[in-house]
Amino acid sequence: MNTNIADIKLELAKGIRMLVAAGLLDMNGHLSYRLPGTDHVLINSRRASRAAVTTDDIVLIDLGGELIEGRSEAPSEYHIHTAVYRHRPDVNCVLHHHPHWQTVLGIARQPMQPVFSIGSFVGPELPVYETSSLINTREIGEEMAEALGRFDVLTVRHHGAVIVGADPQEVFARAVFVEENCKKQYYAALLGPIQPLTGENLERTRETNWKPIIGKKVWDYHEQKARMDGDLDGLPA
Ligand SMILES: [Zn+2]
Repeated sequence: MNTNIADIKLELAKGIRMLVAAGLLDMNGHLSYRLPGTDHVLINSRRASRAAVTTDDIVLIDLGGELIEGRSEAPSEYHIHTAVYRHRPDVNCVLHHHPHWQTVLGIARQPMQPVFSIGSFVGPELPVYETSSLINTREIGEEMAEALGRFDVLTVRHHGAVIVGADPQEVFARAVFVEENCKKQYYAALLGPIQPLTGENLERTRETNWKPIIGKKVWDYHEQKARMDGDLDGLPA
């Protein structure tokens, strides 16, 4: 990914507005990016409206949460981001949001199951963090990052989710399909016992659906849709 700071700020602002447009982000929630090889993190500020975030609303903090640059402070749950970056050198992008269907399954204690092709990367092995409060201290952030471990998706029971990846496109695609999978699982369960993908069929479905190119494809689709709907008004292309 292009690591020019202005370009990353734009990518984050677009990503946040696209998550809002896709119904995945509400008035809270944040998307961050670690500048590769540094301990500097770009993240949307606490006060910025998620629906109208601009590049000026993206602030720069260090892994201790200190504001380095920006006109407003970082969100109180920045500890989610800094803790994951401290624990996971392979991760440069973190999303924290409150997705509806994933949260509903967590409340009902229904482990996520791989129930459709592109969502088949989810499964009951994905971790759940049981502390439902705001993750607003270094200690809780550390505990949450340990719960996430080597996985890319964490459910925070009664609260929301944390999704991580290499860049905003990968994280965005993951967020879209985790939620779609949870929604399908919920509705299928209303009709009777569900039949998740299993065995060789699951393995082949996972391998064939989740290619690196999927992040860009999903991103481009949602970006064009959001632009046509006016959700990206005021942001450069
Ligand atoms: Zn939260």
